[in-house]
Amino acid sequence: MSFTVDQYQIKIIWQSLRPLVAGRTYLLRRGDQELLVSVTALKYRQDQKTGEHLSAKKLNAGESGIANISTAQPISVDEDTNADFDFVDLQTSEFLGKGHIEFPLYRATNIRWQSLTVNKTARAGAKQQQPRCIWFTGLSGSGKSTIANLLEKKLFEQGRHTYLLDGDNLRHGLNRDLGFTEADRVENIRRVAEVAKLMVDAGLIVLASFISPFQAERQMARRLFADSEFVEIFVDTPLSECEKRDVKGLYAKARRGELKNFTGIDSVYERPECPDLVLDTCSYSVEECVEQIIHYLFPAYSGE
Ligand code: ADP
Repeated sequence: MSFTVDQYQIKIIWQSLRPLVAGRTYLLRRGDQELLVSVTALKYRQDQKTGEHLSAKKLNAGESGIANISTAQPISVDEDTNADFDFVDLQTSEFLGKGHIEFPLYRATNIRWQSLTVNKTARAGAKQQQPRCIWFTGLSGSGKSTIANLLEKKLFEQGRHTYLLDGDNLRHGLNRDLGFTEADRVENIRRVAEVAKLMVDAGLIVLASFISPFQAERQMARRLFADSEFVEIFVDTPLSECEKRDVKGLYAKARRGELKNFTGIDSVYERPECPDLVLDTCSYSVEECVEQIIHYLFPAYSGE
């Protein structure tokens, strides 16, 4: 039997020293075909010796497991011949592990994308603006929320239609079931990026303020959008300065060991490699940082 769908159950044999994390996006390579693949659920890890099924959110090097995946486009699989593929790192193109497609997920064969008459272009046209996702990344206390807040105020005053998605706020609702482990942070950003995409589709200028410490998730977010739609802004404030500001007292708590997995202390922050804009909040005021963004977004706009 052969299938062409975008969701499958697969077997994984992981080989990289960087663990596979449920929810993360990778590159699927099969012959000369390459496309994005997300591990939507890690169903279980298989114990090498006993074959026992163990619950897991990660697969380490040498471990194997069963997972569900979702690919960016439907792929054709003929069970006997082309069910094998490689997992490849999105940034480095490094080989990470092997996948074997077991069977298509029933739901994937029954859900079709519904095309709608009123589309993004029509909605954006009604609002007379180019919808965008402006993504702020940086350490806690770097200034993301403060800058995003003032930027939204200015855009609003210019008559633009905006929405600010804030990390802390979303953790009270949509993401309240998520903590701060690597797997939960990956899922946090995946959900937020999908919400931002819907809002861009609705014609809005979306400001997303999230630490988003991992390059892989920022890249995943970027890939959900058209090229000019996604603007990554790195709020580049050194850890020492963030710690000095310690707006919410969280650095002190993390230093006392009362807060685990705190970015910059005992959880990594991967600096963006090529952000669209870098803001230096030690040299420029909030007001000046916002001006830099407006200048970047609307080069022709002359201000007040
Ligand atoms: P984050 O959202 O990144 O966690 P916040 O915006 O909550 O950070 O906190 C940043 C703190 O730094 C605020 O108290 C803000 O007033 C202060 N700050 C000082 N200078 C700047 C600047 N140039 N840009 C942004 N924030 C600044």
